[in-house]
Amino acid sequence: MRGSIGHEVLYRKHIRFDALGTIMQWLPEGFRPKAVAVDIDGTITDYNKALHLGAVQALRRLEQANIPVILATGNVRAITYGLWRFIGASGPMVCENGGVVWHPKWDEPIVRADGARARKCAIDMAKEIEIDPEGITTNVWRESEWCLFTDEDLDAVNRWVSNSEYSDLSVVRTGFAIHLMEPHLSKGEGLKVALEKMGISPGEVLAVGDAPNDIPMFQLVGHSVAVGGCFDSLAAVAKIISPYPHGDTFVPLVDAILNNASV
Ligand SMILES: [Mg+2]
Repeated sequence: MRGSIGHEVLYRKHIRFDALGTIMQWLPEGFRPKAVAVDIDGTITDYNKALHLGAVQALRRLEQANIPVILATGNVRAITYGLWRFIGASGPMVCENGGVVWHPKWDEPIVRADGARARKCAIDMAKEIEIDPEGITTNVWRESEWCLFTDEDLDAVNRWVSNSEYSDLSVVRTGFAIHLMEPHLSKGEGLKVALEKMGISPGEVLAVGDAPNDIPMFQLVGHSVAVGGCFDSLAAVAKIISPYPHGDTFVPLVDAILNNASV
């Protein structure tokens, strides 16, 4: 299934386990991250979007130890901010897969692409092929891209976009939406902007995620953990694959970070 995205992948069981009873080495020897970048959907939630409360508590322990939590997500800013606030995170937020980078202490969000153009693409497309241009609910808050329903005809969308004036836009399907976005957007590029603002180098950061949109972030940072149940394409680039599904990863991982040793 490597590289593929679809419902059948989203609902499959988590992948590899280390042999039970062996020592799990979560981190390179002596590595203590200066910040931890965390994906939301499928990482601190399950695939029904249920938030893992143990993961929330573990992230608060990082904050108490002065290790800022950076939420790095495909979610829009309004949703990310709500979660950021209730978790008690202190790092910037990387939203819309890197399209929007923001911290409430900054004057304005850094919006890295023109979402109005992606929206216009959907409207023009709907004049010629059968799609719903209004797309998914969260589009009302979307700033840098536009999202169609994930079950639209992807081949037809791709064909139409590549023969249109919007052919420079990327068409990316996740389990949650078909994203119409400018190709330079990625969580990796967005996280780089956030880290520059924080004065932290990418090599000092740990990233945790579950899906292909986390790949550029994993390729940027010093260390990466894919949660159990992740996509194979992410597992292929992760430094560590958690033996625990989704949010269950965080308690032992944060223990390891704070002890700065294997557990
Ligand atoms: Mg995810």
